[in-house]
Amino acid sequence: MKIETIVAQAGVGKDTEKGSISFPIYNSATYRHPALGESTGYDYSRTANPTRKVLEDTAALLEEGYGGFAFASGMAAVTTVMMLLSQGDHLIVSDDLYGGTYRLLENVFSRYGITATYIDTSNLDTVEEAIKPGKTKAIFIESPSNPLMKITDIEGIVSIAKSKDILTIVDSTFMTPYLLKPIKLGVDIVLHSATKYLGGHNDVLGGIVVGATEKICERIGFIQNTTGKILGANDSWLMLRGIKTLALRMERQQKNAFKIANWLNDRTDISKVYYPGMKDHPGHDILKSQANGFGAMISFKVVHKEMVERIINNVRLISFAESLGGVESLITYPAMQTHADIPREIRNKIGVTDELLRFSVGIEDADDLISDLEQAIEGGKQ
Ligand code: PLP
Repeated sequence: MKIETIVAQAGVGKDTEKGSISFPIYNSATYRHPALGESTGYDYSRTANPTRKVLEDTAALLEEGYGGFAFASGMAAVTTVMMLLSQGDHLIVSDDLYGGTYRLLENVFSRYGITATYIDTSNLDTVEEAIKPGKTKAIFIESPSNPLMKITDIEGIVSIAKSKDILTIVDSTFMTPYLLKPIKLGVDIVLHSATKYLGGHNDVLGGIVVGATEKICERIGFIQNTTGKILGANDSWLMLRGIKTLALRMERQQKNAFKIANWLNDRTDISKVYYPGMKDHPGHDILKSQANGFGAMISFKVVHKEMVERIINNVRLISFAESLGGVESLITYPAMQTHADIPREIRNKIGVTDELLRFSVGIEDADDLISDLEQAIEGGKQ
C-alpha cells in the first residue's frame, strides 16, 4: 500500500467493536482484568493504552520497522534511545544538530559516564576516525541536520557501523517517513520530534521511536514502560489526526520551499541559502538517491547581522517562533533559540552564526510568504 493511503487510513478499522472511523480516545489509566491471571492486553496505560497503541502501530507501519513507541515529546524519545547506552559507552553525534540533544548529552548523560564526540557525519572518513574501538556503541545522526541541512550518507554510516556492532540512530524529524525511510537503509532506530511534521499543526508535543528489530523494540519498550515518558491518550489521538494529512502537507510545504529557496537565492542581501533541494547544495545528490524529496526547511544567512532583527521584528504573516513542521510558517533565530545551549565558539565553528535564520515553510500561498519576507527584509516599509 502507498504511504498516502496508509496515513489517510491511520486507525481506521482498529475499533472492531463499534467501527468508529476516528479511533476513540481511551482516557482510562487502568483496565479490568477478566479473571485472575487473564488480561485484555491492556493492564495499565503507562504500559499500553489503546489510542497510543494505534499511533505506535501506525508509526511502525510508516517507517517499515518492527515496532513503534510514542513519547511525551521529541526529547523524551531521544532520552529513551540514549538510555540504551551504559556507563562508559561512547557515541558519535552529528555536530550540527538540535541544541536540546546536545544539552541532554552534555549536561545529563555525561554525568552517567556516557561521552559523545560531535563531528560532521556527512564526512564518512571523519566518522571512521572518531570510532573508539570497543567503546563506541552508537552513531546518532540528523540528516538533513538542524539548522545547516548537511546530508549524511545513511547507507555509508550503516556499513561502517554494522561491521563494528555499533547501533545506528537517525533523528528523521525533518524528513518524516513520507520522504525518507532510514530503517530500509539499514538503520537500527529512527526517531522523531513528532511535535513537528507528524503532528503538523503546532498544537501537540510528542516523540516517536521506531525500532528495526524485535530485540531492539523489546529494549525500547522496557525503558518506555520503566521510565514512563509516554504520550497521553488525548495527545496520541491528536497526533494520529495530524498524521492523516502528512502526505498532502509535505507535498505542499516542499513545493513552497523550492520557490522560496530560489527567491532567497536570487537576492544580493542574502549571502547563503541552505536548502537540500537546490542542485548546488552539498549532499543534494545523496539525499536524492536516499529519499523521495528534500523537505521544507530552509536556512539562510543575511549579509549583515542587523538584518536579522529587522526581519524578525517585521514579519507579519510568518511568525517568529520556535519549532517547525506545522502548517503555519515560522521563522527561528537558532543562535538565540534552538541552539542557544551550544557554546558560541562551537556554533561559529560549525556555521550557526549570528547571521543565520531558519525558516519552516508552511502550507500558505508561496507568493504571500515571499511578499511577507520581502517587506520584512526591507524593514516593513511596504
Ligand atoms: N529533534 C529535532 C531535529 C528537533 O528539531 C527537536 C525540537 O525542535 C527535537 C528533536 C526535540 O523535540 P521536542 O521539542 O518535541 O521535544
